[in-house]
Amino acid sequence: MRCPYCRFADSRVVDSREVDEGQTIRRRRSCPECGKRFTTVEEATLAVIKRSGVTEPFRRDKVVAGVRKACQGRPFDDDALALLAQKVEDAVRATGVAEVESGDVGLAILGPLRALDEVAYLRFASVYRGFDSLTDFEAEISALRASPGRHPYAGHAVDKHGGAYDPAPSTPARARVSTP
Ligand SMILES: [Zn+2]
Repeated sequence: MRCPYCRFADSRVVDSREVDEGQTIRRRRSCPECGKRFTTVEEATLAVIKRSGVTEPFRRDKVVAGVRKACQGRPFDDDALALLAQKVEDAVRATGVAEVESGDVGLAILGPLRALDEVAYLRFASVYRGFDSLTDFEAEISALRASPGRHPYAGHAVDKHGGAYDPAPSTPARARVSTP
């Protein structure tokens, strides 16, 4: 690594530590030419391919922004959402690919969101899956009841509207669902 102060072509690592549960490595470096120290950050890249074809770095805050509306008024705080985003990132990284489609990020949200809160899950799923009738909700609720603790789309990367990492803001996320 080139020294940012004197542009000397080499530097020496004097300290190296893992942060963010090992997903990032910070190295403290020293320049043998000018003696100054600087820090470099190393992180494996994870790119999200949007439906437009544009790729952008995966960001947990985008996951949080994507589920926030579905979580309005639900009894948990921002820390729970931060933890959810971390689980989503872990799940995506665990697939071992360097690039994921935004729809697959949405899919990876479903499981942890259901574990967090079934109402928020149902709201998010209604947008992500493009529910357009009560029948869709009834089918989803039946699936929820039939498989407690496991979301019904595990292993199915199919969704009829092409996947929404960030559900369209024009689509109402609220759903009034009455249960017998
Ligand atoms: Zn230097």
